[in-house]
Amino acid sequence: MNDPIRENAETFSCSSCGARPVWNPAGRDLKCPYCGAETAVDIDMTAAQEYPIQGAPVGEMPDWGEEKHVVRCEGCGAQTILGPGESATFCAFCGSPHVLEDQSAAGIAPESVIPFAVPQENAAGMFRKWIKGKLFAPSKAKKMSVLGQIIGVYLPHWTYASNTVSHYTGQEGHYYWVQVPVTVTRNGKTVHEMRRERRTRWVPTAGSVQRKFVDILIAGSERLPEKLLSAVRPYDLAALCRYRAAFLSGFSAEKAAVDVNTGWEKAKAAIDRTMREAAHRDILKRADEARVTSLQSMHYDARYKLTLLPMYISSFTYKDKSYHVLVNGQTGKCGGKSPVSAARVLLAVALGLVVVGGLAYLFAGGSGTPMPWQ
Ligand SMILES: [Zn+2]
Ligand SMILES: [Zn+2]
Repeated sequence: MNDPIRENAETFSCSSCGARPVWNPAGRDLKCPYCGAETAVDIDMTAAQEYPIQGAPVGEMPDWGEEKHVVRCEGCGAQTILGPGESATFCAFCGSPHVLEDQSAAGIAPESVIPFAVPQENAAGMFRKWIKGKLFAPSKAKKMSVLGQIIGVYLPHWTYASNTVSHYTGQEGHYYWVQVPVTVTRNGKTVHEMRRERRTRWVPTAGSVQRKFVDILIAGSERLPEKLLSAVRPYDLAALCRYRAAFLSGFSAEKAAVDVNTGWEKAKAAIDRTMREAAHRDILKRADEARVTSLQSMHYDARYKLTLLPMYISSFTYKDKSYHVLVNGQTGKCGGKSPVSAARVLLAVALGLVVVGGLAYLFAGGSGTPMPWQ
């Protein structure tokens, strides 16, 4: 082991041969792709700095730690941030080979990162295992190897923290009982009697609820559908460490397509949903039923930070259709849509019918009596 890489070093190079080393998920260090020499990376697990959403930034803003350049995909518009000398031969998000140099800046640097923990070769193996487990995937797709087509990309996420106070108005529903005359038939006779019935009296109410929110995660990417992203979550955010340029070496990072304010609007909507539920529960403390009619939230000490989360992205084309597959770069959890073989589905349906038919025959004692489900 050699000396740890210095913080914010402009460039880093292999101490043995001078080549650019890449982040090595297995050893949690930098490894030279040429001579194999490994260099320790100082990993700082202290809580990341957060920045106020309103007003001027307090303290020093993070920087990327080295010269970055941006490429843009002509196919889907994704902007990818690369390190010095790194290039992309195709787009990780849509597979297009038309990736051109972009003049835009890399933008706000991340404050914290979950470094890749799953080596690329393991991710490919996890993908193969995943597609093999897909019952209806065509055998051709199951044999498909994605080696060389799987790309490790850090996806930008905004995390927000806030101390929120919400004032609400609503209605308290209080139960009361009334006697109502009813006509019933008893022993063949029509009788009139009184019955107790429940009513609800609604009275206007108002109040406030308070909650502290930390790490509300909002994806800064719009390239991958939320449904696909949520299939490979969660990330263990306890493993977040302070950003180092070393974590990105050999991997690319997507440039955030959602800006900090747009992300904050989404976070506020998520906060309001939670606060509405809290207001509902608050009314129920003094009533039998609750209605929340309006809610106004104030966010104190609202802060954000940009975080990078590791993701392996692969897509494969089967019968002219493209399928995205994701592998969580921290946990190895796979997700995606797999092609469905019509022949396999038909076969399964046929087998299913045979089983049900056979069972029906057994239950019916072979007499041919129709079963309830027939
Ligand atoms: Zn070397
Ligand atoms: Zn693309």
